[in-house]
Amino acid sequence: MKPFRYEHADTVAAAVTALAEEPEAAYLAGGTNLVDLMRLDVATPEVLIDVRRLTSDRIEELPDGSLRIGAAVPNSDLAADRRIRRRYPVLSQAVLSGASGQLRNLATTGGNLLQRTRCAYFQNVTTPCNKREPGSGCSALEGYQRDMAILGASPSCVATHPSDMAVALAALDATVCVQGAEGGQGPDGELRIPLTELHRLPGDSPERDTVLRRGELITAVELPPPDFTATSRYRKVRDRASYAFALVSVAAALDVADGGTVRDVRIALGGVAHKPWRAWKAEESLRGAPATWDSFRDAAAAELAQAEPLPGNAFKMALARNTVVATLLDLMEAAR
Ligand SMILES: Cc1cc2nc3c(=O)[nH]c(=O)nc-3n(C[C@H](O)[C@H](O)[C@H](O)COP(=O)(O)OP(=O)(O)OC[C@H]3O[C@@H](n4cnc5c(N)ncnc54)[C@H](O)[C@@H]3O)c2cc1C
Ligand code: SF4
Repeated sequence: MKPFRYEHADTVAAAVTALAEEPEAAYLAGGTNLVDLMRLDVATPEVLIDVRRLTSDRIEELPDGSLRIGAAVPNSDLAADRRIRRRYPVLSQAVLSGASGQLRNLATTGGNLLQRTRCAYFQNVTTPCNKREPGSGCSALEGYQRDMAILGASPSCVATHPSDMAVALAALDATVCVQGAEGGQGPDGELRIPLTELHRLPGDSPERDTVLRRGELITAVELPPPDFTATSRYRKVRDRASYAFALVSVAAALDVADGGTVRDVRIALGGVAHKPWRAWKAEESLRGAPATWDSFRDAAAAELAQAEPLPGNAFKMALARNTVVATLLDLMEAAR
């Protein structure tokens, strides 16, 4: 591993300034992704700025019923919080489906959102990869494609975003609170970014995972007041029963009227795109439709009509469709 300096700033403003001034610096939270990438020489920062004590490690209730999750809240605490489990069970289930107990104790909310792709070529510095080394090519296009994207990919990169937590947050209409050198519209110059707009599709610049500018620090994630999110669920399909990333995952919440019609629904998919994929088309197709197997299948088909699978991951089409249907059927069962 390349030698590096370890520093910690006393304030968010000092950290933001330090990172903006040091071209080869990186924020360090739990380190469970960043330090692994440093061991592999994929990340080579000269300075690590520890941000764990700079942001809150608490989940606060706001006056309007929203929850504000500090960026330093460990994944374990987030999953175990009684308010999260009762009002947004999909989030607790998503976090618990990821990594291991020890990793979740160290991993933070901010770090989880910004973990990097698990594409094997990205993690192997001997192979071309546009995300790691722009312009070098994408080894996955002619290589191993099982884990790759079927939605929103580009000829530059077909990688998927690995976070389970982010998929649940996308379905829950969460907002990411950010502080940066240029300030924002909220108190203390806080920027507020809808979670669904935080991560990018790869386009021509797959090296950029998110819309964050250099030095911007995630300070919190806010969940809007619960509506029908108590009836929500996360379903993850993977090659092993534990300690594995999603081939496909679905986060969903469902509100069915007494007559059996879908009043409202939220669906997000994981393991299928460079970002957590909010299934807007599936949702649109379901609102006002009967809550039946046929409607669920048609909704999944409406979303997947825009998919462009690769030869090595075409199986994800049926897997994604079936996982959407199974998750919504589970929610129907739970609501009875
Ligand atoms: C064996 C293994 C299995 C795993 N399985 C899963 C899984 O199934 N599902 C899943 O979702 N995850 C899984 N993970 C990933 C794990 O969830 C992440 O490593 C973890 O959430 C990252 O959080 P961290 O606090 O350790 O981040 P770090 O590693 O400290 O940081 C990650 C990135 O975020 C940046 N960063 C951190 N905090 C901030 C902040 N506040 N503002 C701006 N930038 C910041 C860092 O600079 C770095 O670029 C697994 C990890 C391992 C090692
Ligand atoms: S899919 Fe993306 S991350 Fe993987 S090799 Fe291609 S460019 Fe790199």
